[in-house]
Amino acid sequence: MTDLTSLTLAAARKGLADKTFTSLELTDAHLSAIEAARVLNAFVMETPDQARSMAREADARIARGDAGPLAGIPLGIKDLFATKGVRTTACSKILDNFVPTYESTVTSQLWRDGAVLLGKLNNDEFAMGSSNETSCFGPVGNPWRRDGSNATLVPGGSSGGSASAVAALLCMGATATDTGGSIRQPAAFTATVGIKPTYGRCSRWGIVAFASSLDQAGPIARSVRDAAMLLRSMAGHDPKDTTSVDIPVPDYEAAIGKSVKGMKIGIPREYRLDGMPAEIEKLWSAGADWLRSAGAELVEVSLPHTKYALPAYYIVAPAEASSNLARYDGVRYGLREQGRNIIELYENTRAEGFGAEVKRRVMIGTYVLSAGYYDAYYLRAQKVRTLIKKDFEDCFTKGVDAILTPATPSAAFGIGEKGGADPVEMYLNDIFTVTVNMAGLPGIAVPAGKDAQGLPLGLQLIGRPFDEETLFSLGEVIEQAAGRFRPARWW
Ligand code: GLN
Repeated sequence: MTDLTSLTLAAARKGLADKTFTSLELTDAHLSAIEAARVLNAFVMETPDQARSMAREADARIARGDAGPLAGIPLGIKDLFATKGVRTTACSKILDNFVPTYESTVTSQLWRDGAVLLGKLNNDEFAMGSSNETSCFGPVGNPWRRDGSNATLVPGGSSGGSASAVAALLCMGATATDTGGSIRQPAAFTATVGIKPTYGRCSRWGIVAFASSLDQAGPIARSVRDAAMLLRSMAGHDPKDTTSVDIPVPDYEAAIGKSVKGMKIGIPREYRLDGMPAEIEKLWSAGADWLRSAGAELVEVSLPHTKYALPAYYIVAPAEASSNLARYDGVRYGLREQGRNIIELYENTRAEGFGAEVKRRVMIGTYVLSAGYYDAYYLRAQKVRTLIKKDFEDCFTKGVDAILTPATPSAAFGIGEKGGADPVEMYLNDIFTVTVNMAGLPGIAVPAGKDAQGLPLGLQLIGRPFDEETLFSLGEVIEQAAGRFRPARWW
């Protein structure tokens, strides 16, 4: 039998339906792969018993002929999603051994459709970071290495475990979340496909909140089709999240292979940064050429407020984070560090439980929300956010169907290489992705090529609200032209 872990999700679905193999065999193959790849530190919790029992249940459903669309497909779940009876920590010491008594809406929809839980995936603490180095469980290794080098690189973040596990063939797909780029940047660093859907497309209920007006769940997968299959199960209206939108979920897979002839693709002038590596420029033009050859029309567009997006994001996101993280007080859940009185208990718990990056965000957020600074920072950032959104709306009203940009300003970097002295160095990773969260739009990252050192690079497509289908159609054109990339196994 071919190696079951190297199948795409679509191929595995067929193999299961044809009874070429069972979900239990598929699941066991992945559990062995996870065991053999512990050096990557992608999983923070393995759930083999639960995986096998879910696989048996899926096999029974397949045999009965009532299999859901993801029946028997083994997945990894970012540790930001609450999983009933399975420890959920957001990779923060402050949640300690928290075991939720409830399941997030997104994951419950995956189980409803027959998917199998392999375990929980590493991420930056509370999803704050771009390299997975802020996790209390330690960094994750990228399965990709530079040609001729043994240095371990970061898989990006915050969904580093998800991207690494999917790229290393440890799971067939993974859930992830994206507040400023955390699905798309790690996807670009690992040659996987990641889509952040429109704000409101997936329920946020049961996902540990970072910045509630920006957070969205989405999948990381090994192909555009696989991402479409996963998103269909993850998306949908949920009365428990008032920001989730009540519009039907289309069959995203049907968008794959649809003609993109006549579509208008915008190339934003402002994304051409000074000092951007020539390789990224080259990749971007190649992407434009591929879309043009498929019949799309390429037009230059302007998003004039782009340069304010990162500074505005680093006000809005910490502001919301400081408010969301107020609940971790040592009383309600997780870690408790005693004190002489309740105030001291709060202080001791938060001092001990939060890592340095989270503390930095809480302090920034509290500062920009405080009386006297609120108007100057928070209110101003909200106004800038409206202008950023309007830039995109102006493009779309002029008939642009989607916007093509690089996904990241560089390829993956080494562990410990960035942000040590200056956190802004790390924040700059999200320069092409945060605008999309600020505007609430869908964005997909698709592998598009490699740099001179053999590391993968991705392109990003940004779409109209709730038009993920166009992103899948265009993304697949890029995938077909660029081919698929897989890391050489060293772990
Ligand atoms: N890297 C960004 C941050 O640290 C975005 C993280 C995310 O999307 N969760 O805030």
